[in-house]
Amino acid sequence: MQYITYNSTSIYNNGIIYISKDSRDPVSARYPVRLTGYYAALIKQQGDAIWKQCMPDLLELEDNSQCPDPLDEKGLSPVPCLIHRYPDRVVLLVSNRCAVYCRFCMRKRLVGCGDAPMGEDELRKALDYITAHPSIHDVILSGGDPLLLDDASLSKILAGLRTIPHVAIIRIGTRVPVTLPERITPELCSMLRNFHPLYINTHFNHPDEITGESGTACAMLADAGIPLGNQTVLLRGVNDSVETMRALMTGLLAIRVRPYYLHQMDLVQGTAHFRTSVRTGLEIIRGLRGHVSGMAVPHYVIDLPGGKGKVAILPDNVEMQGDTLLLRTYTGELVTYQDITTPQE
Ligand SMILES: *Cc1c(COP(=O)(O)O)cnc(C)c1O
Ligand code: SF4
Repeated sequence: MQYITYNSTSIYNNGIIYISKDSRDPVSARYPVRLTGYYAALIKQQGDAIWKQCMPDLLELEDNSQCPDPLDEKGLSPVPCLIHRYPDRVVLLVSNRCAVYCRFCMRKRLVGCGDAPMGEDELRKALDYITAHPSIHDVILSGGDPLLLDDASLSKILAGLRTIPHVAIIRIGTRVPVTLPERITPELCSMLRNFHPLYINTHFNHPDEITGESGTACAMLADAGIPLGNQTVLLRGVNDSVETMRALMTGLLAIRVRPYYLHQMDLVQGTAHFRTSVRTGLEIIRGLRGHVSGMAVPHYVIDLPGGKGKVAILPDNVEMQGDTLLLRTYTGELVTYQDITTPQE
């Protein structure tokens, strides 16, 4: 494996290390590179789980078989920056910046590229669209990372959404607690608490990301009354073992974050070297269920190509023979269970 090392092109500013596009480096010329001082300091050695997530790799350029947008997010976008796939909820792409550009990102085609996606005009159009569709009850702010917006810009978007009576809940997807925990300030938290019910799903992938700093960031958000969930991406060489996932998922509960999804990697161009088999994912779920707190077990989901939506899959634990079920327990024992129902008249 060949890694590119960055030295002279890094500028440290406000906790973020900016690495300029460098035409001498083919990876960053195609896929932007950025990391924070905090996150970089979590690297213990070259090639470890943190390194792999944030340092560019030439393998990104070798994967040309896959599609930049397999989930057809573009096709599901009736107005700019809005993805409407399910009847009752939409995703708003409010930022195309992140504190760290994850090398496995499913929106690799967008993040770190071009201008900020959501200007005044796009925001107005997105709010109009949501207003015109009363079936939309749940709005998910995503990107990029919504918490890379400044407090005033984010507050403006949230306030706009809260003028729409049928928007029941708002969610924010953010990796900032993991990659730039100092962004979670008392000011941000007191702004966010004006917009309840507000949920945050964060994105921890490895137990080494659970630190005093990220724990404090999550505690501040939780103390602002925001229920915290977590979405983990299953990544080869990073977290594709039962042992690592047990430590991660139980560690998250200890910092008041409830595991929500474990994502099978999307078939996104430039990320093939991170992909594991679905069998691996199922083995991990099998290694969690029953062995650790049920609260620590996420749904394992595959987001189907073509925008068909997320499907949750489970290890095969049931065999049905009429009204008799043969169920596999977490220890592997097969137990018969009679499906008894009261006859209906
Ligand atoms: C994942 C996703 C959602 C949210 O799905 P939930 O299962 O409700 O968390 C909504 N819209 C799109 C386009 C998504 O990809
Ligand atoms: S934080 Fe999320 S959107 Fe940003 S690069 Fe990482 S995975 Fe992609």
